[in-house]
Amino acid sequence: MFNKQAYKMGAAPNQIRQIFEYGRQQAKLLGEDKVYDFSLGNPSIPAPEQVNRSIKELLDTESSIRIHGYTSGVGGDPLREAVARNLTERFGVKAYARNIFISCGAAPALQAVLLALRTEHSEIIGVAPYFMEYKAFTEANGSKFVLVPADLEKFQVNMEALAEAVNENTQAVILNSPNNPSGAVLTEETLRKVAALLTERSKQYGHPIYIIADEPYRELVYDGAVVTFIPTIYRDTVVCYSWSKSLSLPGERIGYVYVPEEATDSRELFLAVAGAARASGHICAPSLIQRAVAASIDCMPDLEAYEINRKLLYEGLTEIGYECVKPDGAFYLFVKTPGGDNSVFCERAKAKNLLVVPSEPFGVEGYFRLGYCVSKETIVNALPVFREVYQADSH
Ligand code: PLP
Repeated sequence: MFNKQAYKMGAAPNQIRQIFEYGRQQAKLLGEDKVYDFSLGNPSIPAPEQVNRSIKELLDTESSIRIHGYTSGVGGDPLREAVARNLTERFGVKAYARNIFISCGAAPALQAVLLALRTEHSEIIGVAPYFMEYKAFTEANGSKFVLVPADLEKFQVNMEALAEAVNENTQAVILNSPNNPSGAVLTEETLRKVAALLTERSKQYGHPIYIIADEPYRELVYDGAVVTFIPTIYRDTVVCYSWSKSLSLPGERIGYVYVPEEATDSRELFLAVAGAARASGHICAPSLIQRAVAASIDCMPDLEAYEINRKLLYEGLTEIGYECVKPDGAFYLFVKTPGGDNSVFCERAKAKNLLVVPSEPFGVEGYFRLGYCVSKETIVNALPVFREVYQADSH
């Protein structure tokens, strides 16, 4: 006898991973340059030199026992203090180390917050298009996942649908900006509308409805786009962050949860997050990388390679005839499927080793996602294949 839900999640890894694994196999058979894999959000720019230098210095100067030893369950002071200072300086909030829980990436941060907010009839709202793990994590934690359909024009928030979805059991709304898969950045106007709705409903139902701000792409923006720090707009916000994308450290598994001092029941919520992380065995994030990130806290990514890829791919695809909203952030393009039939299109692309992710798992029909965190050559070589697949679809 097994936990059926856990078995299901393990036996059917998410679709992105399946496509990625297929790409790895094809690359072994045909060679890397014959496979155009746009499936995964794995950063393609190196971590800043400062991170690697810090790791080397720490290994050379710290006692091995200390640097490889456990930190406090909630994370070590150096990183908690560095994050609090960084948030205070950049966003004008008053963050303290006691508000920061160091997690093993954004996914365990979300998992801990979702478990912390689980109550008898709890519901968690996601906004399409959404990162598919929200549903998996919410349901695994025993809450109901409610999906608000997408605003397909601008990929902001469909406010009417959100207003309909919020009810007395709603514990939180997850917002992800810049967004995976659309690349959209939520405007301040959108966030103020969401905040006004949730403030009114929190009052009406007599309990806070939190915003869970899932922000691993916060620093990945282009053309001067601004990512509003949601706690400055709505006090009952819990931030889930990781350095997986901003410092290109996805394999190091390092991130945090920020529970603002001003949030309702801030201390209790923080302890519930710590307890939830403990319950799932995700305390004491890796020590060495905690210290290296603390020493690199003010590093910003050099986005030049992503900028070049974004322009090349966006302009190349729209010139062929593909339709897509130009994204302000992250490293994804969300493209309308020519002909409308996603499964036919994606299979035809796959037959030519052009690997894209259909949009259905993100809660939207008739689109596909491209991760442009690839080499420039991959895009240059893939554009003629995109043209072939487009032409096949429009005849
Ligand atoms: N949230 C979003 C929107 C993501 O795209 C990802 C990873 O791709 C995560 C969370 C998980 O991030 P991490 O690798 O830091 O756990």
